Amino acid sequence: GAVVHWFRTDLRMEDNSGLHKASKLGVPVIALYVHSPQDLEAHVVAPAKTDFMIRSLGELKKELAEKNIPLWVETVEKRKDIPKRITELVKQWNANVLFANMEYEVDELRRDTKLIKLGMENDIAVNIVHDVCAVPPGELVTKSTKTPFTVFSPWFRAYCFELFENPALLNLYPSPADNPPSFATEKQKLFTSPLPSSPLDIEKISTLITLFPAGASEANSRLKSFLETKGKAYQDTRNTPSIDGTSSLSPYFAAGCLSSRTAIHHAKASNNGRLSGGGGGIDCWISEVGWRDFYKHVIAGFPHVCMNTPFKPLYTQLPWLPDPLPHFTAWRTGLTGYPFIDAAMRHLSFSHFMPNRLRMVTATFLCKDLHIDWRLGEAHFSSLLIDGDFSANNGGWSWCASVGVDAQPYFRIFNPMDQGRKWDKEGEYIRRWVPELKDVVGDEIHWPSDNIREKMGYPKAIVDHKVESKIAVEAYKAVAKVG
Ligand code: FAD
Repeated sequence: GAVVHWFRTDLRMEDNSGLHKASKLGVPVIALYVHSPQDLEAHVVAPAKTDFMIRSLGELKKELAEKNIPLWVETVEKRKDIPKRITELVKQWNANVLFANMEYEVDELRRDTKLIKLGMENDIAVNIVHDVCAVPPGELVTKSTKTPFTVFSPWFRAYCFELFENPALLNLYPSPADNPPSFATEKQKLFTSPLPSSPLDIEKISTLITLFPAGASEANSRLKSFLETKGKAYQDTRNTPSIDGTSSLSPYFAAGCLSSRTAIHHAKASNNGRLSGGGGGIDCWISEVGWRDFYKHVIAGFPHVCMNTPFKPLYTQLPWLPDPLPHFTAWRTGLTGYPFIDAAMRHLSFSHFMPNRLRMVTATFLCKDLHIDWRLGEAHFSSLLIDGDFSANNGGWSWCASVGVDAQPYFRIFNPMDQGRKWDKEGEYIRRWVPELKDVVGDEIHWPSDNIREKMGYPKAIVDHKVESKIAVEAYKAVAKVG
């Protein structure tokens, strides 16, 4: 016999609970990865993210080979065929047990339910286990109503309390558990399957390899170096885009090259054993990793957010712009005439990444200044981000659009010029990404005169922030009143 571990967004060997459990069974382990072009398209996965997953898979394959674990990569065009094809493969390999780590998005849960059912019909034990959050979703509920939290701060207190009371939650899974028996070399050769090819061209791949080398060992060294060098100052530097003060670990979290458990385990160790309450940079960082897990608890607790419906369904009634294309195009291509916004949108197109502060400012601008449905923005981010992650992206967008859990109040609207003045005081970030403005000096970088715009070939502002933000407040107010 043999046991199969189906890798999804958990592309690492260390601290992988499904793989660990599989490797304890005392039979050879086969690693499986399924590539479904239709599924990637349906979920608007960025080619940059797919490329990152494929590169990470390459690293994983090498690490697995060192433990004599073969990796089989199967391409299944249509996503509805995935459970059936997996069942066939498992039977073909004479295995009767399969492990995978749970993904909490509705489509993925439905897919896994189908697989469990097919498994039962075919004598295959399908084990879908908790792994992606340090505290599994469902474990934390409010004291008063015993329902999932909808506010971050009390959720985070409960999360830290749980990690403190139950320190085993932060124990890392060694990998593989006990060196599982391996197949004879001859049999291993039967598992040769090529990696999927990258959807990107060579030039793009080389840009992204430089920015984000793939794989779990890169993730671990970034984590270590972040905690040793930038961690302490994180709270003060994280919002300033010209300072590289954050961990840049999000693509690794999203592909599962790194788990929250590992991240918090090491952060705690370099924070004198503390998770929170001390107010330092690493405390702050742990709470940001907490936001990642929080949004996963939210999608597990309130699955309607996975189905194109805001957490507060009332806000589906907001009167979004009926013909969004011209303004949406200006926003997407970084031609709104708002320098801080345009810099960030061009940064996103080039690097497939954007710092958190800019994600908040550009997203709020789309919903509140341009009155464009936040779901269009959510899809656009997803189509480009190398760290695209449904729960974080959906959570971030619905926070900015004031329609999500613990969202930004609708009347608090970022002023894009002031945000630039505050977080990019000298305009370094703007000059880097908006070359038309590179010779503009002083405060004018944040709001160039008509004269300069014309001379430098930089567009006039497509809307007036003062006017549009008032219109947005009135629109939200009207809907809130009805509710
Ligand atoms: P750090 O500041 O070093 O934080 C460490 C880790 O904590 C991150 O890698 C990430 O996993 C997690 N994290 C930090 N902030 C948040 C947050 N606000 N919400 C959830 N998790 C967080 N993050 C994604 O990983 N994928 C997305 O698709 C995504 N879309 C977003 C869309 C919008 C509109 C907004 C406002 C935020 C979005 N974020 C998303 C969250 C955040 O912007 C990124 O995680 C962060 O910028 C990544 O940089 P970093 O790894 O250097 O983060």
